[in-house]
Amino acid sequence: MKKYNFSAGPSILDESVIKNAASAVLDYEGTGLSILEVSHRGKEFVATMEEARQTMRELLHIPEGYEVLFLGGGASLQFTQVAMNLLKNKAVYINSGTWAAKAMKEAKLFGEVVEFSSKDDNYIWYPKPWNEIPEDADYLHFTSNNTVYGTQYRQDPDVKCRLVGDMSSDIFTREIDFSKYDLIYGGAQKNIGPAGATFVIVRRDALGHVDRPLPTMLDYRTHVEKDSMFNTPPVFPIYVALQTMKWYKELGGVKVLEKICTEKADMLYNEIDRNKLFRGTVNEEDRSMMNVCFVMADEYKELNDEFFKFATERGITSFKGHRTVGGFRASLYNAMPKEGVQYLVDLMKEFERSH
Ligand code: PMP
Repeated sequence: MKKYNFSAGPSILDESVIKNAASAVLDYEGTGLSILEVSHRGKEFVATMEEARQTMRELLHIPEGYEVLFLGGGASLQFTQVAMNLLKNKAVYINSGTWAAKAMKEAKLFGEVVEFSSKDDNYIWYPKPWNEIPEDADYLHFTSNNTVYGTQYRQDPDVKCRLVGDMSSDIFTREIDFSKYDLIYGGAQKNIGPAGATFVIVRRDALGHVDRPLPTMLDYRTHVEKDSMFNTPPVFPIYVALQTMKWYKELGGVKVLEKICTEKADMLYNEIDRNKLFRGTVNEEDRSMMNVCFVMADEYKELNDEFFKFATERGITSFKGHRTVGGFRASLYNAMPKEGVQYLVDLMKEFERSH
């Protein structure tokens, strides 16, 4: 039976990407060696790293003055590193979900934090206090897509201070106006590649303005100066990330990806709204195109486990809702084909007919 992987991350990768990765595990670029055993200083991997950085630049139209880094430590280390490198006095944090709250907790170690939150409503809406943001803030940090709760802010906030974005779960789904940002980061394991690499896009001139001493590995300048090769980078995840980005280029780039992901999200939300058995969990205007969260409608609550079993037995994998939300979460990252979403929609219709 064909399986459709709706996992929130690590998550689905395109078959062509997995095949390229598998082939490089056996023979990397005709070296006769596996990608798993080559030196990161060898000319082949130096070229791979450079191509990965360039391809990201090209796909996202990253302007001059910004650096692309691939680091270790996950997006979670960025929660600390961002504040350590950029927070002088005061920063604004949009507390729109679990990950945003974790980022904010780290920032409080380094300075004053002004918080705008939807926590009291279990994060079912996205805070948008754009005209209340203090102008003297060093930056405003927001999590553009809330992987756990399924809300998203699909624009670059219009505020008078600089922006920092955690785009772990929606990078490569829209064009970004970089001129507003000092930094964008994310874990690779959703829309780019397997777990193990973290991307950071940072404005060079935003660095070097804090007074505190910075540990070498946590100072972005260390990695900028060494073209992301200060220490051993996550070689294999970066190779796979490059395969994904090359595939994105073949598909036609970010505009095309945006169109496809909008169509897929519409397909599923339309069915959730139409089908009497289900309902969405967040405010309609803030619905995520990446992580679609839904539960059984109140009158059909008792069917939760039955639907989960029904779908799982038919090849839908990893689509249980986060424990704080319940129900179901279907993650529609770029590698999820439209047929996968249609298949899930058809199962929802079939389940409705039998109840
Ligand atoms: N931010 C967001 C939006 C996430 O979804 C996640 C992981 N699911 C993280 C940060 C943390 O990423 P990591 O596990 O790479 O530290």
